[in-house]
Amino acid sequence: MGNAMSEYVDELLASGSLEKGRFAELLKYRNLESTKELFDRADRLRNQVQGKRVTVCGRLMISNYCKNECKMCGIRRDNRFVQRFRLSEEQILDYVDEFYSKGIRSVLLESGEDSFLTEDGITEIIHMVKESFSGLQLFLAFGERKKTSFVKWKEAGAEGYFINHGSENEQHFKKIFPSNMSPLLKKQSLWELKEAGYRVGSHFLIGTPYQTVEHVLEDIYFLKTLRPDFLSVGAFLPVSKSVFADQRSGNGEMALYLMAVFRLMLPGCHIFASPSIDCVYADGRITAFDAGADMLLVDVSDIALVERYGVYERKHRRLALPADNLAVFIDRLEERGFTVI
Ligand code: SF4
Repeated sequence: MGNAMSEYVDELLASGSLEKGRFAELLKYRNLESTKELFDRADRLRNQVQGKRVTVCGRLMISNYCKNECKMCGIRRDNRFVQRFRLSEEQILDYVDEFYSKGIRSVLLESGEDSFLTEDGITEIIHMVKESFSGLQLFLAFGERKKTSFVKWKEAGAEGYFINHGSENEQHFKKIFPSNMSPLLKKQSLWELKEAGYRVGSHFLIGTPYQTVEHVLEDIYFLKTLRPDFLSVGAFLPVSKSVFADQRSGNGEMALYLMAVFRLMLPGCHIFASPSIDCVYADGRITAFDAGADMLLVDVSDIALVERYGVYERKHRRLALPADNLAVFIDRLEERGFTVI
């Protein structure tokens, strides 16, 4: 299998994809050797295509209200144990200013699907942030919305939009999302965002309940077709008071392996090292840059607010993770030869 794995990595690098059987073997028979080889190729390819650079993006959740009942999520509508919040305009400006004053020029504003955040309300927030912070790139993740809203927010100055495509396999999708949600609608939103001129981001999760290797492959092929501008790769995390609270976490090593796979498949895509990877792999965010990631996602320093985000719990092996310290990340990345912007 050793030589075959090396052959698969070569083929993935040369053609950007693999036939299903070979891809399944690359995933199933992952070992130290194939991981090292994939990481080396992904690292080199990122350096060739994008330079040895890391872009920092600050994430701010502006509301944790949500009308949906996704089974893996801690802020689903019916979870009575969540302390809900919705930030005021002033609070949003203060938190964005925290990022901006540290030199961060990309910010992701996200929320649950909060009906209180209307098309006009979000337009106002975009204008307010763009006018207050010159040169700031603004990305949004406010869920599935009308195409007209997407267009309006793009015109107001948003550059990127993230929607989790969920699962490409319909049966699997139905097991992890509520019956009123549809994979087709999620995908439709992604294509509408592309039409509206956004840089589009999606999210891939390894280890969600009931996921099989075949489902993972379907997701991989879908993402290859979508060609997202941004991709976040993480592992499923069981969140207390979610429907899947008792399920096992996804595998952090596999999430990193898949980051490297996606780098070879989508060389120009910006791949995020997100805080959640630290929950399944010690030092996951730093290791992600060995696997071809090029964007570092950080949260605001107000850890009490971040803990209320609630989409996942900020812990590694039951130990709470500290607040993100950008200066430490920058030092560690610069020691590894990265330029951090
Ligand atoms: S995953 Fe997103 S849409 Fe689903 S319940 Fe959580 S915040 Fe809402």
